[in-house]
Amino acid sequence: MEQLLRDGLSTLGLPEDGIPALLRYAELLVEKNKVMNLTAITEPADIAALHFLDSAALLALADLRGKTVVDVGTGAGFPGMPLRILEPSIQLTLLDSLNKRIGFLKEVCDDLGLTDVNCVHGRAEEFAAAHRESFDIVTSRAVATLPLLAELCLPLVKEGGYFLSMKAVDSDEELRAAAHAIRVLGGAVEKAVDYAIPGTEIRHRLVFIKKVQKSPEKYPRAFAKIKKNPL
Ligand code: SAM
Repeated sequence: MEQLLRDGLSTLGLPEDGIPALLRYAELLVEKNKVMNLTAITEPADIAALHFLDSAALLALADLRGKTVVDVGTGAGFPGMPLRILEPSIQLTLLDSLNKRIGFLKEVCDDLGLTDVNCVHGRAEEFAAAHRESFDIVTSRAVATLPLLAELCLPLVKEGGYFLSMKAVDSDEELRAAAHAIRVLGGAVEKAVDYAIPGTEIRHRLVFIKKVQKSPEKYPRAFAKIKKNPL
């Protein structure tokens, strides 16, 4: 795994300093995954590519230095934790609605000495009540379809900030379906960039949604409403 990370980070133009922490994180992930459902990806080469380098690609595509970032639906910490390990100036909040996953992430932070990472158990639509328009950047990967995600994530973004949504390259239709929700919530799709995960044939997409004006106060609604009646 170490060589894959070394090669992959070099392809992305990122420094290698974070590799020891990523290796330790992988160990903790595989160990905890034996007793808790954290990830279906457990082979070292797959963890390196599909979790670490896929997350790291964001640093090559967006300038996250010194930014406040919340990773919504972070699960076992992706993309948020690799972002923070590789770019220590990020002020990171990890948010997930499953407490056992947040418990795992706290253990990882303790183990790696990441004392300033905020691990929060909660639902994005409830977290927004106290944290709306508060973050420079919101990230999410594999949490929901974009029309729903826009309502969960955009209210958290400051004006001028970005919601960076990690999607599949065949997400054109999903993007079209989300256009109305994004506009209503004060966002605008700036660009969608397809990228290759280094060392693989896999291509993913990062959608840059800029917050151009405040989200109306009535959003986000309760999740049942968002799901039943997406914007
Ligand atoms: N982002 C991680 C990744 O790509 O490996 C985890 C993806 S996992 C499929 C989706 C995660 O989103 C789960 O851990 C789930 O608990 C969380 N989640 C779903 N809806 C959420 C919500 N409304 N607020 C916060 N977390 C949510």
